[in-house]
Amino acid sequence: QLHNSYLNLKGNIRVFCRFRPRLRHEAEEAKVAFHDEQRISLQSEMLKSVTGLSEHCNSYDFHFDQVFGPQACQAEIFEELSLLVQSALDGYKVAIFAYGQTGGGKTYTMDGDQGNRSGDRTSGAGVIPRSVDLIFQEVAELRSKGWDFELTCTLLEVYNESVFDLLAPRDAKERSAHGTDGRQAVEQFTFRRVQEASQVHRLLAKAARERHTASTACNDRSSRSHALFQLALQGSQANGSARCSGLLSFVDLAGSERVVASQVQGERLREAQYINRSLSALGDVIEALKRKPGGHVPYRNSRLTMLLKDSLGGDAKALMFVNVSMCLGQLPETLSSLRFASKVH
Ligand code: ADP
Ligand code: MG
Repeated sequence: QLHNSYLNLKGNIRVFCRFRPRLRHEAEEAKVAFHDEQRISLQSEMLKSVTGLSEHCNSYDFHFDQVFGPQACQAEIFEELSLLVQSALDGYKVAIFAYGQTGGGKTYTMDGDQGNRSGDRTSGAGVIPRSVDLIFQEVAELRSKGWDFELTCTLLEVYNESVFDLLAPRDAKERSAHGTDGRQAVEQFTFRRVQEASQVHRLLAKAARERHTASTACNDRSSRSHALFQLALQGSQANGSARCSGLLSFVDLAGSERVVASQVQGERLREAQYINRSLSALGDVIEALKRKPGGHVPYRNSRLTMLLKDSLGGDAKALMFVNVSMCLGQLPETLSSLRFASKVH
């Protein structure tokens, strides 16, 4: 057991809050926001809290395991979780989530800059490419010490409670028949054996393209589906004296923004209901795990929590990012995300 130190930290569920910087078109509004510190104020160093006044001028005060301001860079964030990622090599199940409204920075946190998906460890690469590189680096080291590792990955998308396999070969005929998106909901997933980091980066890029294509065809569907990447590690010592099996799960969750039911209809309303249900099912699962270890955990309330059954619970470790923006115009959504996150904290 190489990285037990993580276990000594309080509990197995941690929440990191990350504020993204303002985007170019938000610059004007941001000027107002930064002068209005009564609304949002971050304490990263000691208190790790977010405080301020809500839209109704009630004060709020949320505490997290870590609070990252808009200046925090990708490397700095990964530093905080590299031990957690490495613990998968000791046989732990580790799940890392990104929660927040669309545009909050979930994909930036998990994947990183669009241009850096290939995983060259440049500054923009997010948690997933950095984790992949770290794991393969460590595996190489363990191999030299007589360990053997077998790594497999799966890439799934959960949309409207159906699971799509992003590594499955796409059927062109199906595609035209459906008009928008050829992928079929599946029960059996592709488990791809992977030998090196670059291979995983290519699969991730392929899956991202798949999602992007489906998304363009269906009005930015990617923000309304959950993306799940799992890397399973089976290790054994050459002389057969020890073995371990760890699992890393990364979930870029569907946008948490509340949809006003009176303003959307049909497909959009259905999507919104599925998202609400699955996000609250996830919240319920995490809460149940936190409350009474060994007690009943309601995994069966959504496809996502069913898929994550093995990666959440027992001595599994979970980390949730809550990705939010400083923009005052989004304060109600931001507070709703922070409320959710502090509930699972
Ligand atoms: P989400 O996946 O939650 O919908 P994105 O990750 O796509 O949000 O982020 C929305 C926009 O903000 C993107 O243009 C992204 O590049 C940018 N962005 C998000 N977080 C950061 C950050 N920490 N630093 C710089 N740009 C960011
Ligand atoms: Mg996204």
